[in-house]
Amino acid sequence: MQPPTAPASATEFKDILQRLSRPIEFAARDNYAHVHGVKSLGPFVCEQVLQALARGPHAVPVEINLLVLRQLFQDFDQTSDAEERKRRVQRARMLLRQLASERVEVAQGGTASPPTTRPTSSTKPVGDRRPLWERAVQFLKGVGPKRAALLARLGIVTVEDLLWSLPWRYEDRSRLTRINRLTPGSRGIICGTVWRTHLKKIPQRRLSILEVTVEDATGRLLALFFNQPYLEEQLAVGTPVLLLGRVVMGRSGWMDLRMEVEEYERIDSVNPAASVNSTSPRTLHIGRIVPIYHETRGWTSRQMRVLIDHVLHDSLADVVNILPHSIEARQKLMAMPDALRWAHRPVEPVRLEELDRGVSPAHRRLAFEELFLLELALADRHRGVQREQKLLRSQAAPAMVQRLRSILPFRLTVAQERVIRDIFEDMASPHPMNRLLQGDVGSGKTVVALHALVAACASGHQAALMVPTELLAEQHYLNLTGLLDRLGLSCVLLCGKERGKLRKERLEQIADGRAQVVIGTHALVQSTVRFARLGLVVIDEQHRFGVMQRKTLTEKGYQPDVLVLTATPIPRTLAMTVYGDLDVSVIDSLPPGRKPIRTLAFHQSQRRRAYQVVRDEIRAGRQAYVVYPLVEESEKVDLEAAMQAAERLQQEEFADYHVGLVHGRLKTEERTATMSAFKAGRIQVLVATTVIEVGVDVPNASVMVIEHAERFGLAQLHQLRGRVGRGAQQSYCLLLSGAAGSHMGSRGAAGQPHDQVSPARQRLDALLRSTDGFVIAEEDLRIRGPGELFGTRQWGLPDFRVANLIRDAALLEQARKEAFALLEQDPGLSTPEHQPLRNAMLRRWQAKLALGDVG
Ligand code: ADP
Ligand code: MG
Repeated sequence: MQPPTAPASATEFKDILQRLSRPIEFAARDNYAHVHGVKSLGPFVCEQVLQALARGPHAVPVEINLLVLRQLFQDFDQTSDAEERKRRVQRARMLLRQLASERVEVAQGGTASPPTTRPTSSTKPVGDRRPLWERAVQFLKGVGPKRAALLARLGIVTVEDLLWSLPWRYEDRSRLTRINRLTPGSRGIICGTVWRTHLKKIPQRRLSILEVTVEDATGRLLALFFNQPYLEEQLAVGTPVLLLGRVVMGRSGWMDLRMEVEEYERIDSVNPAASVNSTSPRTLHIGRIVPIYHETRGWTSRQMRVLIDHVLHDSLADVVNILPHSIEARQKLMAMPDALRWAHRPVEPVRLEELDRGVSPAHRRLAFEELFLLELALADRHRGVQREQKLLRSQAAPAMVQRLRSILPFRLTVAQERVIRDIFEDMASPHPMNRLLQGDVGSGKTVVALHALVAACASGHQAALMVPTELLAEQHYLNLTGLLDRLGLSCVLLCGKERGKLRKERLEQIADGRAQVVIGTHALVQSTVRFARLGLVVIDEQHRFGVMQRKTLTEKGYQPDVLVLTATPIPRTLAMTVYGDLDVSVIDSLPPGRKPIRTLAFHQSQRRRAYQVVRDEIRAGRQAYVVYPLVEESEKVDLEAAMQAAERLQQEEFADYHVGLVHGRLKTEERTATMSAFKAGRIQVLVATTVIEVGVDVPNASVMVIEHAERFGLAQLHQLRGRVGRGAQQSYCLLLSGAAGSHMGSRGAAGQPHDQVSPARQRLDALLRSTDGFVIAEEDLRIRGPGELFGTRQWGLPDFRVANLIRDAALLEQARKEAFALLEQDPGLSTPEHQPLRNAMLRRWQAKLALGDVG
């Protein structure tokens, strides 16, 4: 046995290499005239190799080269064929050269930086030369229809998809352990030679165990392969292998260690990978930083590695660098082919942690390109809308706007004035308005929208206000008709529920232009609804609509102006993607005199204390909401809970007051009656399901109890809470939940790291901490991850393959800047050098552009 391994000193190692070189070089002299002339060359080489190995473990490439060298010379002396001897000596010389250079690299110690422009086409491309996105993976070597179907499940259809399917993590499998240093219970990697194999079959248990004894410079180890009998052939005696697995004790304890093999790699002496033009032998599955890919039943990470290796080898040369050089240089991005290769085959020195988090230079390059293409598409569309000519231009109509001002019960805030100016400017311009108005709940968006509606009507056009729920449509109608009336403007409600004569009448009024303002739900965009001269569409609470195409609206009118209101402030990064092509105005302050809502958390068992707060408020002349969750899956049960609660509250806690109930299943008249009664103060406590989540505006309501708060989403909770705090009085939001540890005023998880706290708990905490919609939106994004917000059809944008909106927020900002600047410079991307870029943008986003197309 060898002594415990110590890293060979460079000189010792060099000595051995030199000792090996001398006889081998001699044999090669005079055009390999002496391949028979060196006595006992085989045993000598094997002995030296063993000495070198005994000084290990070395870096994997070194180990592999040494083992291959040994394999070449094991039966050298028995080989009489001169050609064969010559071939082996040739190969040995190459291996020695590699070993020598390898040492140099190791000795330099990881100072090399990622290559930026290594030649990528060392191999002559052959076969299919169509663009990568037109090459189906099905026709790659070793794929075929069956595997193609499996890959399709992973979203991989083309070679381009394949290249962009990055590992979801990486594993450092580059450290070797000598057999005599293995300890039971650990996971280790060994590098050795197959000494013996034995296949055991246990038919009763339908089990086969392939026992492979592997030998390295320090000893032998029994390696077990379960149910892979076919490996017997591949792991013939004398084959150098790398094995990774868990070390376990056999029957005789410590002296009897085995390895249950998880991953193996055979090192082939004729491995083409280790051929002349590669600097060091490559392994795929062990002995390096190994990419771990998503798997699906029937398709393993290992297979993926092999496939990607082929593709990198064959197709990397066809990867086009689409980014302009100037941007690459400014953003310090590596070239595209390099980035792809690095992401799949990281080469030392790399930071594993950077790779895993997806922030390595390679990842950065790929993410940038994705974000850049999106922003370019959005920038392009932004220009497109700006170029359109609208037929109906609205004037700001000072007279009527002046009159509107005079009948409003309050003065507009500076923020409101500012956004109204933005909007009027858009409306008067020859191009259609495409504007997003962002403002937290209660910031006063309705009155801004009203200004736009009035301006459109005053210019002789029709204006539509579209909202996500009937309840809200009714509310808006109720609130706005009074004002519109006094301005001499007619207003019609259209919810899609209307039938018969009533419906016919309203549709006629809309079609012949008698209806000047039309308030309604999605029903407004139905094909049966025709407008006489639709000049403006305002979409309230846009986030609730999901994807809507501008096209549907433009078909209704003459390129109407579109104003989108959203109360859910979305984080900047999302806004830049989802609404990237809209102009944005923000109402950044609340009307004066508002007191921040006080939010308190109670455990369910403390319900009485919550009701006490409610009673105090009612006694002071205020009103209350009690909100119950309602989700589709358990709609029936949820509804019943709300109904029973209304009854119980009326009979018990609030017997002295009037309790009302609203939910989505009520008849319109019933619901309208209840809402009017609540608005008029005849009902003090309104029990409701989430139908009141958006838009409802009853300023005298000052307290909201939210039952089962843990069941609501964060944005939803924030919206709900926004129903109170609309007047000058102090308002309260009381969260009831079963979440352990929540109690009045609780900050709950303060001090605890977030990931130990349930998402529900985190949501409630976020709500307790802040009343600022933007803060809450960021928090929501953090808790849920962008996939949730994004992958959902709700936002209408597909997931990125590499980019991540939280992680890459700064990168997105850069990408946007560069994209808009580039279009400024070359508006149509029409110069020849921008063609590949233009094509890539269209390919990626043209079909999906409509998705981002809100408004
Ligand atoms: P949201 O932005 O959530 O749609 P609303 O438009 O419903 O908000 O406005 C919330 C409340 O604030 C309403 O009762 C509205 O009348 C009131 N409000 C709006 N603007 C002002 C203002 N400038 N001063 C005082 N109250 C205002
Ligand atoms: Mg609103």
